Amino acid sequence: MNKKILEKPAINNGLSNIEYKKIHQKNAIIEYLYKMGPTSNPDIARYTKMSSPTITKLVQELIDLGIIIDMGVGESIGGRKPNLFGINPNARYIVGVDIDCRMVKLGIFNLANEAVSEIVTYFGNVKDKNKMFTELFSRLDDLLENSHLNKEAFLGIGVSIPGLINSKTGQTYKDVRIDEKTLEELFRDHYKLPVIMDSDSRVMAIGEQAFGFAKNKKDVLCLNICDGIGLGMILNGSVYHGKSGLAGEFGHINVVKDGNLCTCGKYGCLETVASGTALIEQAQQGIKKGNASLISEIVNDNLDDIHVSDIIEAVNKGDIFAIEIINKLGHFLGEAMASLVHIFNPEMIIIGGKVALAEDYLINPIQNTLNKYTISHIKKDTIVVTSELEERVKLLGSVAMVMNQVFDESVEDLKFL
Ligand SMILES: [Zn+2]
Repeated sequence: MNKKILEKPAINNGLSNIEYKKIHQKNAIIEYLYKMGPTSNPDIARYTKMSSPTITKLVQELIDLGIIIDMGVGESIGGRKPNLFGINPNARYIVGVDIDCRMVKLGIFNLANEAVSEIVTYFGNVKDKNKMFTELFSRLDDLLENSHLNKEAFLGIGVSIPGLINSKTGQTYKDVRIDEKTLEELFRDHYKLPVIMDSDSRVMAIGEQAFGFAKNKKDVLCLNICDGIGLGMILNGSVYHGKSGLAGEFGHINVVKDGNLCTCGKYGCLETVASGTALIEQAQQGIKKGNASLISEIVNDNLDDIHVSDIIEAVNKGDIFAIEIINKLGHFLGEAMASLVHIFNPEMIIIGGKVALAEDYLINPIQNTLNKYTISHIKKDTIVVTSELEERVKLLGSVAMVMNQVFDESVEDLKFL
C-alpha cells in the first residue's frame, strides 16, 4: 500500500492550500488505520511518505477529535516497542440498505464494520415502488431515531438494489423515478446524507472483495442467484460497470431455443431455467405432475407458497425430487458458466443468493458440467465456491461501497473530514 498526498489547490471551499493539504494528510492517516488496523508512527510514515513529526502532530489532532485512539505500547519487532494508534470504531457510522427482490434489510454499522443497531429485515416487493420506498423510509427513520446517534457522525448511506430491467420501459431499478425524483435524490433529500447506490450483483462483488473469499484476489466473478441471475465482475482488482452501468446481465443470455418468456421480454434466457423463480416453477410443476416430494409437506400442500428456502430444506433432508431440480439448475448454470471461464479466466467464481444455500448440491453439478464443457487447463485455474457471507453479503457490501467512495480521491462530496 502506498499513498500519494494530493496537493491541488482548494476550490470553492474557502480553505488555503496548506489547510487543504492537511485535511488530505489526515484522511490518508485515517484510511491507513481503517484498512490496516492498529499501527505505529513509522508504519504510517512509510505509507503516507510524511515526516514523523508531521504524523505525530496530525495524529494528536485526530485523537483530540475522537477519531483516533492511542492504544498504548505494542509488541517490539526489535528495538524500542512502538506506540500503536487505531481508529475509533464509533467515530463515524454508515447506513447499509439491501433491497432484494422480496426482502429488505437495513442496519447501522460502525468503522469496524460491526452492526451497532438491530438489522431490520422485512418483506417488501420492489414491484410496488411507492409503497416499497414509503415503508423503507419509515423503518429507516425509526432505526436512526432509536439509535440516538448524532446525525453528523454518519458518512453516508449505501444502497443495494435489484439489477432487474423493466421489460416495458427499459428502466433499471436504479433509474426508477418517484414523484419526478430518482431514488438517489429521494434518499438524499430525505436524509441529507451522501447516498451511493449500485445493482445487487455488483454490491455482492464489493462485499466479497472487502470481507469474503474475493479479498486480495484480482479476477473474481460473483454470481447472485435470487429471483433473477446477476453477475458482479472484479476484473484486475476493480469492480466492472460497463459503458452505462449495465454490465453483468448474465441472466439474460439465451440458453434455450424457443424457451419460456423471461421478465426482460425475451424468450429462453438463463433466468428462465436457472434462477430462484425457475426453481420454484419447476417444483410446482413437478409436484402437480405427481412427483412425491417433502416440499409438499414443508408448505402444507400450498404449492403457491413455495419459497427457495423450502426447496433447500427438502434438499438438505435428502429429498430426491428437490435434489433433482437443483441438479438440473446446476447443469444449466454450469453450461453458461463455461463461457465465463473461457472469456475471463477467473481465479474464482463465487455463487451467492438464496439458491447458493444448496451448497454442494449446487456446486457438484456445476463442476461436472464445467469439466465437460471447458478446456481443462483454463478450468484448473478457477475455483468455484458458494459465498461464506451468505445473506449478509449485500448489506456488508453496501457499507464497503460507502467506505470505498470515502477513500476515493476522485470523489469530492464524500470525505471523512
Ligand atoms: Zn431475460
